[in-house]
Amino acid sequence: MELYFYNTLTKKKEIFNSIDEKQVKIYSCGPTVYKDATIGNMRTNLFQDILRRVLRYNGYTLKHVMNITDVGHLVSDGDEGEDKMLKSAREEKKTPIEIAEYYTNLFFKDLEDLNVETPEIVCKATDHIQEMLEYVKKLIQKGYAYETSTAIYFDISKLDQYPILSNVNLEEQKAGARVDVDTEKRSPYDFALWIKAPENHLMKWDSPWGASYPGWHIECSAMGQKYLGEQFDIHTGGIDLIPTHHENEIAQSMGNCGKIPARFWLHGEYLLMDGGKMSKSLGNVYLLKDLIQKGYDPLVYRLFSFSSHYRNKLNFTWEGIEATSKSLERLKMGYQSHLKGKEVVGKAEIEEMENRFHQAINDDLNMPLAMGVVWEVVKQEKKSPQWAELLAQFDSVLGLKIKEPMKKEAVEIPKEILDLLEQRKEARANKDWNQSDELRDLIASKGYQIKDTKDGVEIKKI
Ligand code: AMP
Ligand code: ZN
Repeated sequence: MELYFYNTLTKKKEIFNSIDEKQVKIYSCGPTVYKDATIGNMRTNLFQDILRRVLRYNGYTLKHVMNITDVGHLVSDGDEGEDKMLKSAREEKKTPIEIAEYYTNLFFKDLEDLNVETPEIVCKATDHIQEMLEYVKKLIQKGYAYETSTAIYFDISKLDQYPILSNVNLEEQKAGARVDVDTEKRSPYDFALWIKAPENHLMKWDSPWGASYPGWHIECSAMGQKYLGEQFDIHTGGIDLIPTHHENEIAQSMGNCGKIPARFWLHGEYLLMDGGKMSKSLGNVYLLKDLIQKGYDPLVYRLFSFSSHYRNKLNFTWEGIEATSKSLERLKMGYQSHLKGKEVVGKAEIEEMENRFHQAINDDLNMPLAMGVVWEVVKQEKKSPQWAELLAQFDSVLGLKIKEPMKKEAVEIPKEILDLLEQRKEARANKDWNQSDELRDLIASKGYQIKDTKDGVEIKKI
C-alpha cells in the first residue's frame, strides 16, 4: 500500500519511497536538556514515535537518530543570549554536566511512560565536538564561512537559494528586522557555526580559533552526516524549527556537500493550553508527571494526542484528559470482551477493517481517522477473538498497551488533607451538613476534589 507524507520541503503530500529498499533513515532533533520537558515537547515525540511505528507497519526497518543538545543552544534560538545549559546551571547551582544528566534522565523516563520507543542511535552534542569542528573547517575551506572577532559565521550569500524550507522573504523581513548585535556579520541572516568563548565561559573546547564552542545548528548537520550519510530519508522536528534550525541545517549541508540532508521533512504542530500558548507566566505549563500525579495513566496523554492530526494544533484541557481516560478504559474493555467472545467473523470483514486502518495511517499518519476505525472494531456486535487479534495488531502502531489494564497510580494525599477528610466524615456522621460542605470547600481550596460515592469518598488532585 502506498505511503504518503506531507513534505515541508515541497509543501505537498508525496508518496514515500526510501533510498534503501528496506531501511528508512530518520533524524529527529532531540531535546535541549536544560529544563523539564513539557507535555508540549512530548507531543512532538509522540508524533515521531507514530512515524516510526507506521514505517514498521509498512515493513521497513529503521535507523533513527536523535540528538541530545547539551551545548550551543542559545536562549534566543539564534545567535544571541546565553547558552541555555549555562543559564540553567547558574540558576540551579549545578554544573552543565549535572544539568544535562538530570534532565536527560527525566526526558527518557517520560518517553518510557508514554511508550515512545528509543531511537536506534541517541547522540550527545558534546560527544561530537571533533566531527563538528571538521565540518566547520570544511565550510571555511570551501568558502562558505568566515571569521569575525566573536565567531565563525556561515555566509548565506554563497548559496544559490536561502531560505529553502520556509517561505520567508528575506528582503521583506530585513525592512522590519532588529539591528543585529554583531556588526561584523556580512548579512543579518548569516548564522554562527562556532562561537568564541568569553573568558569565564564554562563549556569551551580548543579550536583553530581559540577556546570556543559550537553553534546549535552544526551539531545536527555533523551527527546526521556521521550516522546517516550525506542524504537520508526523513528529518523531523516541531514546526518552530523550520525557519531557523532546519533552514540553517540545510544551508550547512548545501555548503558541505551540495545536498539537502533529507528528502522528506516532517514537522509537528504545537500543543495549545486552553486555546492559547503554554507559558510559565500564565502558570499553565504541564509536565507528564502532573498528569500522573492526578492519577492518570500516562498513556491517556498518548491517546489524547491522537485526537488531532500531527500537522494541526491540539488543544489541551483537563476535561479532554478526563474524557480520554474513560475512552482508554473503554478501549481496553472492548479488547477484553472481544477476546472472551465466541463468534466467528468472515475473513473479508477483517481484511476490510485492516485495510481502512492501514490507509488512514498511510495517509500522512492520520491518527484521528485511524482511531475511527479502531472504535468501529471495538464496537462490533459480534464479539470475537479475531477482532481482538486485529486490535492487538493495530496496537503495534497505537502503542496503548491494549492488552494491559489501566495503570492508575495512587494519588498521594498529604496528612493535612487526610485530617480534614476525617473531620468531614465525623461531621457527616453527626448529620452536620453545613460543616461537611465547608470542609469540602476547604479541601478544594487546598487543591483536592472529593466526591461521595456509594463505596465511600473518592479524592483526586484538581
Ligand atoms: P523547547 O524546550 O521549548 O526548546 O522545545 C523543544 C522542542 O519541543 C521544540 O523545538 C518544539 O519542536 C517542541 N515543542 C515545544 N513546545 C511545544 C508545544 N507546545 N507543542 C508541541 N511541540 C512543542
Ligand atoms: Zn537539530
